[in-house]
Amino acid sequence: MTTVGILGGGQLARMLALSGAPLGLRFLVMDTAADACAGQFVPMVVGDYRDEAALAEFASRVDVATFDFENVPAESAQWLSERVPVFPNPRALGVAQDRLAEKTLFRELGIPVPDFADIATRAALDEGISRIGVPCILKTRRLGYDGKGQFRIKSAADVDAAWQALGAQAQTVGLILEAFVPFERELSVVAVRSRDGEFRAWPLTENWHVDGVLSASLAPAQASSELADTAFGYARKLAEALDYVGVFALELFCRDGQLLANELAPRVHNSGHWTIEGAETSQFENHLRAVLGLPLGDTRMLGHACMLNWVGELPDAAPVLREPGGHWHDYGKSPRAGRKVGHATLRADSAEGITRALRRVGAGLKRESQVDPVVARIAGA
Ligand code: ATP
Ligand code: MG
Ligand code: MG
Repeated sequence: MTTVGILGGGQLARMLALSGAPLGLRFLVMDTAADACAGQFVPMVVGDYRDEAALAEFASRVDVATFDFENVPAESAQWLSERVPVFPNPRALGVAQDRLAEKTLFRELGIPVPDFADIATRAALDEGISRIGVPCILKTRRLGYDGKGQFRIKSAADVDAAWQALGAQAQTVGLILEAFVPFERELSVVAVRSRDGEFRAWPLTENWHVDGVLSASLAPAQASSELADTAFGYARKLAEALDYVGVFALELFCRDGQLLANELAPRVHNSGHWTIEGAETSQFENHLRAVLGLPLGDTRMLGHACMLNWVGELPDAAPVLREPGGHWHDYGKSPRAGRKVGHATLRADSAEGITRALRRVGAGLKRESQVDPVVARIAGA
């Protein structure tokens, strides 16, 4: 009986465990919070990732370890990797944890990125703004997620407020300044690489964010095969450069038909949740197959899919459950503003079928504003 250890016990760990059950796998999660939602049905070690005793207990009970949480300290990942196989490797995790390191790598690999600058001091911020221009975004290099740790600088008048908000973190987690990209759309590649270097990607996905948090994903994205191939090429190059094993997502902006890389998520990704019902093999199952050295599953889609994220609190499930291709996911978390508490996936044989389902669900939940951008994209294609 193989036990997979997962650092981080949130909804990603929960969905990994659900997908691994048919493969006969056991799981152990580790989280700093005793009420982490994967712990509702997966054994859990509660402890700080820097606590050697807790990590040692975790290591002693698992055959292989992976992550649901990308901000596990790099030293803890390294320590663990000296005791048990860890995928993705700690170097890949370290690069993806640091926006400056990941953008530098993208650039080295010839993957276009928005202009950026390392910001260590207030003077560097002024210099960066004079080079990059406004609008731009000041972000923490590390620990940001769901748009947290970011300040949008619309004009020179905002610089003081930006430094006030984030300046103290320049010497702790570091800061990066990025040009603001007036993108037409956001896309992601969710891909997997096996231990022996086989690479597979799911169809390109288009994503919509509200207040920096993912709101909806549509697959396949309404994009040309040339654009998709370019995106897959970038993802493959990155995975090879990092000797990456497992599932990851590459977030991209599309502007004037050109792709710019935003960030690399070194784990299964919210924009790949539709693969549970919408693909031959889900991102969760393929991640497990990859880290265990098993053959990868087919990443082909079954028709079309749209995922709607539930942020803050869950709406009524009935309008989704009434849909023939409607699937409901409740993460078992208590409601809290800005928190991802669940999602729904709508699957259909055609894009028009997705439109009809989205309209019904949007009206049934009075969430037209969440579904309308997706409906408009399908209509415009
Ligand atoms: P995630 O939850 O995806 O990990 P994050 O906190 O790491 O998010 P980003 O992905 O960098 O942050 O930013 C969140 C969102 O903010 C992006 O998906 C995009 O909508 C917007 N955004 C970020 N950077 C830029 C940029 N340089 N130009 C325009 N919009 C941006
Ligand atoms: Mg991120
Ligand atoms: Mg992001």
